[in-house]
Amino acid sequence: MNKNEQQFFAPGRVNLIGEHLDYNGGLVLPAALSIGIKASYRKRNDNRVLLSSSAHTLQKEIHLQDAYFFQPENDWCNYPIGIIEHLKKEGRQLSGGEIHYESNLPEGSGLSSSAAIEVLTAYLLLSQTESDIDRVWLANFCREVENEFIGVQCGIMDQYAVALGKRDCAILLDCDTLEHLYIPIVLEDYKLVLLNTNKPRSLIHSKYNERKRECDEALRIIRATQPSVANLCAASPYYLDLLQNETIRKRAKHVITENLRVKESVKALRLNDLSTFGRLMNVSHQSLKEDYEVTGLELDTLAETAQQTRGCLGARMTGAGFGGCAIAIVHKTAIEEFKNKVGEKYLSVTGLNCNIFASEIGDGVRKI
Ligand code: ADP
Ligand code: MG
Repeated sequence: MNKNEQQFFAPGRVNLIGEHLDYNGGLVLPAALSIGIKASYRKRNDNRVLLSSSAHTLQKEIHLQDAYFFQPENDWCNYPIGIIEHLKKEGRQLSGGEIHYESNLPEGSGLSSSAAIEVLTAYLLLSQTESDIDRVWLANFCREVENEFIGVQCGIMDQYAVALGKRDCAILLDCDTLEHLYIPIVLEDYKLVLLNTNKPRSLIHSKYNERKRECDEALRIIRATQPSVANLCAASPYYLDLLQNETIRKRAKHVITENLRVKESVKALRLNDLSTFGRLMNVSHQSLKEDYEVTGLELDTLAETAQQTRGCLGARMTGAGFGGCAIAIVHKTAIEEFKNKVGEKYLSVTGLNCNIFASEIGDGVRKI
């Protein structure tokens, strides 16, 4: 490393349980991964920012005095450009520099590489003038960039996990109050295993918006007779009887029961009871498959094959669904056999190769 060069790292994230609850005001349990994006930064004495990434051929030169907007042809550079533009809007002093990104985090696989590049860029630029960056502020700021500049209506979970992740801990985040608590994850002889379907998530944006609308509708109907219900996650399972439409009832059933599963999971994890947590993961997957209907053949094949394979305590899809990744808790001595068995079955059912690898739970964004 050149002496004028600084290096920063931001992790990807998985959600251990509590899926599709962030926009329903519920509890989620994400964790930062040990894989992520690294940025090398070199300051310049002018007003230009040079952006490059080893994963992409497009490079871009930004002039800090000029205003930039989202442009499809700017492709991946829209993420750092969005961060720069919003930092300028906040009145932050920025100086020129060269930023080069390198990554071992698959892009577009539901491990939140978008939140990683946003949080990494903002942290790196702010670190030039600030020694104590407020990580909750950072998460909210980057979410705003993804919502407003990129135009993706994600919840707060991803940026929160990337900014506030802690080694060997999950973050219990209440998406209604935004309070968070660290929950130690003691895996001992087990490992967190990621299973990438390698399936492009084509349906994701339209179906995501459709689920949001269905949940809003469920809450509207429940509130007509139960006005004090703050959000869908806070509704009692008894209120499901108020929902006549079967689709709306199934969506609400997933949301209400999944929120209860997060609470059960936290209880189990506090007792180091991984078997109970594994069972809750399996039930969560089933609920996402049958009631929320966001899985599909690829995620179902991976999660269900994993669940039946020796040494696996539990498996479920993670992230928004329709492709992306699943996670499993697997005994470390069984991982090789697990990879072979699940990989073979997945190939025979879907015709696709999956990637299966263990990951540690790591810290949030930092200088390295
Ligand atoms: P996810 O967040 O699930 O990985 P998104 O579609 O939200 O998927 O974000 C992926 C996008 O983030 C990529 O298409 C790319 O534009 C950007 N990105 C992620 N990692 C990198 C990287 N290492 N270098 C450049 N751009 C990246
Ligand atoms: Mg993303």
